[in-house]
Amino acid sequence: MPDGTESESRKLLKRLREVMAGSDAGQTRLDKITHLIADSMGTEVCSVYLFRDPETLELCATEGLDAEAVHHTRMRLGEGLVGRVARAGRVVNTPNAPAEPGFRYMPETGEERYSSFLGIPIQRLGESLGVLVVQSREARQFSADEVYALEVVAMVIAEMTELGAFVGEGAALSPLHQRSVVIRGTSAQEGTAEGHVWLHEPRVVVTNPIADDPQRELERLSEAVEELRVGVDKMLELSRGADKEQLQVLEAYRMFANSKGWMRRMEEDIARGLSAEAAVEKEQSLARSRISQAQDSYLRERLSDLDDLSNRLLRILTGQGNNTGAELPPDPILIARNIGPGDLLEYGRTLRGIVLEEGSVGSHAAIVARALAIPLVVRAKRITTEALNGDHIIVAGDQGLVHLRPDDTVVSAFRDKIAMRAEAQQRYASIRDKPAETLDGQTVALHMNAGLMADLPSLESSGAEGVGLFRTELQFLVRNKMPKRSELVALYARVLDAAHGKRVIFRTLDIGSDKVLPYMKPNDEPNPALGWRAIRVGLDKPGVMRMQLQALIRAADGRPLTVMFPFVAQFEEYRAARAEVDKTIAREKRLGHRLPENIEIGAMLETPSLAFAPQKFFDEVGFLSIGGNDLKQFFFAADRENERVRRRYDTLNVSFLSLIEQIVERCDRSGTPLSFCGEDAGRPIEALCLAAIGLRSLSMRPASIGPVKSLLRRADLGEVRKIISDARHRGDQSVRPAVMDYLRDQG
Ligand code: PEP
Ligand code: MG
Repeated sequence: MPDGTESESRKLLKRLREVMAGSDAGQTRLDKITHLIADSMGTEVCSVYLFRDPETLELCATEGLDAEAVHHTRMRLGEGLVGRVARAGRVVNTPNAPAEPGFRYMPETGEERYSSFLGIPIQRLGESLGVLVVQSREARQFSADEVYALEVVAMVIAEMTELGAFVGEGAALSPLHQRSVVIRGTSAQEGTAEGHVWLHEPRVVVTNPIADDPQRELERLSEAVEELRVGVDKMLELSRGADKEQLQVLEAYRMFANSKGWMRRMEEDIARGLSAEAAVEKEQSLARSRISQAQDSYLRERLSDLDDLSNRLLRILTGQGNNTGAELPPDPILIARNIGPGDLLEYGRTLRGIVLEEGSVGSHAAIVARALAIPLVVRAKRITTEALNGDHIIVAGDQGLVHLRPDDTVVSAFRDKIAMRAEAQQRYASIRDKPAETLDGQTVALHMNAGLMADLPSLESSGAEGVGLFRTELQFLVRNKMPKRSELVALYARVLDAAHGKRVIFRTLDIGSDKVLPYMKPNDEPNPALGWRAIRVGLDKPGVMRMQLQALIRAADGRPLTVMFPFVAQFEEYRAARAEVDKTIAREKRLGHRLPENIEIGAMLETPSLAFAPQKFFDEVGFLSIGGNDLKQFFFAADRENERVRRRYDTLNVSFLSLIEQIVERCDRSGTPLSFCGEDAGRPIEALCLAAIGLRSLSMRPASIGPVKSLLRRADLGEVRKIISDARHRGDQSVRPAVMDYLRDQG
């Protein structure tokens, strides 16, 4: 293509398409393609290098270099000019390759004869697949037009690679989506799951990268862009009342959708022979590779907007909505960049596991996944690029690991682990209806934590005595607007119905800190965990709390009701909250609503301050529940959401146990019922120690009830208590090693 005309470029693409349509095996196709390109570009050499693994490029086909070198010549990412193109994702265009920094010639290829070098990254959606190279003896710089034409060809090769066009007998290519991959993310919900990939937003597959009739493609593009613009305007129209930030995002969308530069580049690609969708994808690829390189977070955000718009445009052009016709596998593992709690709830318990490319441990999706006890890994880099619908996948939630297309040894190791768990589950099921009675005759009441309607069936299956903590904020978090009182009445009534008379402790809204309602103005607080949260919000702005109390009273409709206030730090807060309940009862009575048969009002002990409250507080409060997650973070001054410090201090640290023991004693003195409902209650060793220092009620995730009960039934609390006290006298930091030794001795 020395004259670099558009029609030359179209001719080349047309010939490429003929090769693709033929019945040749993968390698033959690739050979023909390099021949065609060299011929069309008027160069002596054209080579295709593809990734063997994420670090290694392999010469997979060549016209002009020694044929012997094919599938033998390999280079590391960043090595030589080819490696440089792949690493930086940028074109290298030079008349004098040997003079370039980093040049390294591969003697087996015979490439020392060639002076000029043009290397183009083969990328798809920002993902590097390989490098396309042309070389010639004559020392010349390739023209901008030639570079551009070769970029279009590289784009088509990328699409073909993606579609598996070079796989097959004799190709010796390990296609991207067939190799097994291990991705390390962050654990957000424990548990192990094996299943098949279900992409929440399937990738749009472009099957026709090359088109004959540019005029028709230009029309298609223009119609699709028009539809996109109308859609964005409609979104803006509907969001009139939305907050400033959301409007800004939509305005940015509109700006891109009307961007002349964006349109012009796509039109040029079409003129060179690409189909409308391939032109959109080429732009999207460019935006993606810039996203990964952009330092500025504002720029990154805007490039992500462009990425999103391109996706919408591709969906319009290909007619592939979210529904691609793929069927949900029987054992789906959901893969997504991110997912909202509402969408997640729609899938519900059908999912075996969830892997998110973004997301965070404290996100709403994580809260829902935890409530549904579905193993979840977040921040799994590149998972949406690597995974295809239907791929075999193993999620090791405990370690935050994802094995995509695992090989047999990994599969069998995991199956053993899963089988062991299943066996344990059977054991737990056999003691479901038995009490958690220890060898020395102490009984510990085991309750479950809940927050969604979906949790309630576990009340029956886990053998829990009741719901020790119903986190009412989950219902607020999974919506995009404030629920109405009538909706809450209906919901709480359904919860009580489903509990069939077992006690449910409703905790009033615990928002703030990590739990921010999407429809409430976020408070820009320097330290949200120590900020305006939970009961503090409830007392300062009592409207929502009153509505919630009314809803609870109406839902009880004459049945007993138990309410608990979160994050009470001092006696006065409890008194004020209690006064709200009394006022609400009086009002409901006036309005003629049936009052609960009896109301128990309690508080969560989540700050060390409350452990030192006047004894009168312990006399007055209906019951107490230790929120160990918060209490521990404040006791050790270690943020529970901060990976760096959250595991730093052991719950079985003697200082922390002494604090708990003191709370037990104060409650005993005033006969106040006491429970423990933080995550530690569901960890068998921790639960055993809590019981040994006097707790007789624990509330935990339903799945933990079996393991905790099983250990309690085999333990002697008196002995464990002695071990704890000996460890304390010895000056141990944590009682864990001593307790573990004891349990090991017991077998
Ligand atoms: C706690 O803090 O221990 C607790 C149970 O409440 P949450 O985890 O909802 O803050
Ligand atoms: Mg808490």
